[in-house]
Amino acid sequence: MKTALVHSEAYRRFDYGPGHPLRMERLGLTYALMEAYGLTTLPTTRVIAPEPAPDPVLRGFHTAEYLEVLRAASAGHEVPMPYRYGLGPGDNPIWPGVYEASALACGGSVRAAELVAAGEVDRAFAFAGGLHHALPDRASGFCYLNDAVLAIQALRARGLRVCYVDIDAHHGDGVQFAFYDSPDVLTISTHERGDRLFPGTGFVEEMGTGAGRGYAVNLPLHPHTDDQVYLEAFEAVAPPLVRAFRPDVVVAQLGIDSHRTDPLTHLALSVEGFAEAVGRIVRLAPRLVALGGGGYDLSNVARAWTAAWGLMNAVELPERLPATFVSAAAAHLRGRVTLWDRPEPLPEPVVRTAREYARQQVAELERRVFPLHRATGAR
Ligand SMILES: [Zn+2]
Repeated sequence: MKTALVHSEAYRRFDYGPGHPLRMERLGLTYALMEAYGLTTLPTTRVIAPEPAPDPVLRGFHTAEYLEVLRAASAGHEVPMPYRYGLGPGDNPIWPGVYEASALACGGSVRAAELVAAGEVDRAFAFAGGLHHALPDRASGFCYLNDAVLAIQALRARGLRVCYVDIDAHHGDGVQFAFYDSPDVLTISTHERGDRLFPGTGFVEEMGTGAGRGYAVNLPLHPHTDDQVYLEAFEAVAPPLVRAFRPDVVVAQLGIDSHRTDPLTHLALSVEGFAEAVGRIVRLAPRLVALGGGGYDLSNVARAWTAAWGLMNAVELPERLPATFVSAAAAHLRGRVTLWDRPEPLPEPVVRTAREYARQQVAELERRVFPLHRATGAR
């Protein structure tokens, strides 16, 4: 089992600006924890520093006009009506280097895909990627360029069948949009229900179109969905569909804003629940390209993605965070000194409501989507 970790120190230079929930520090913090656990020097892994994706690669999904506008804004030039492109104060501010940082994330995810496609590694993790909301001609939800789409395109260019599994708390709308009419890319997204959370989509009725009908799968979840409720629903939906589809590669978006302490969402997973889901994805994937995603409580991001990287390398990690990391990262850890969370059960009626909602959604998917996969003779 060979693996590759894609990481760049260049992200230190970039900043969405004070008060923005997406903190670039989370990437350095995550790498520091992986390093402290000895996960960056395993004999079977290598650490790869990516280059920014060049313009022709970005144009695989994004319009030339939008790329030009983003590049100009990034360089500090005045852009007329930036809101036409989703840019401006709010979710997607214009900051110095926003183009370079976004192109770098794309370069990292595409590199991960190419390493896996070429058979050089079996699993690659580009945790600066997973910016799943970006659209061809506009930024959305803190995402300017859609590295996940470009990574999938790189795999498709090699003729590989791709299953995209997105466990971020938000719907993976940009990726769904890119492959909505394609039967060669199965997208599965689990997320907080769209009538409660950005981006307002991701209902079970969104199933794909034309030849792609049945190849977009959405499992919306109620606020306060905990580990048990989540894993039961995930298990009912993802494994049967992934097996029926028989992908060559799984691309996984591993957002950790599903965590119970995340300030932007209302799901209630723990690092354990997240890691269980990741372990399931790792076991389902013949080959794996893993990406990062959301995560706005920094102490969770480092722990969750380090746990995920441990799973991808089949390395069991000690419960206690390495002391060097704890002292260096004290400001972000808010007293947390263990990889896993302490159990904090929710009140039973809250759990019951979330479970009932999840079971309804699963039943709807079994009724609407599952028969389309049986009809293909895939199972
Ligand atoms: Zn998210």
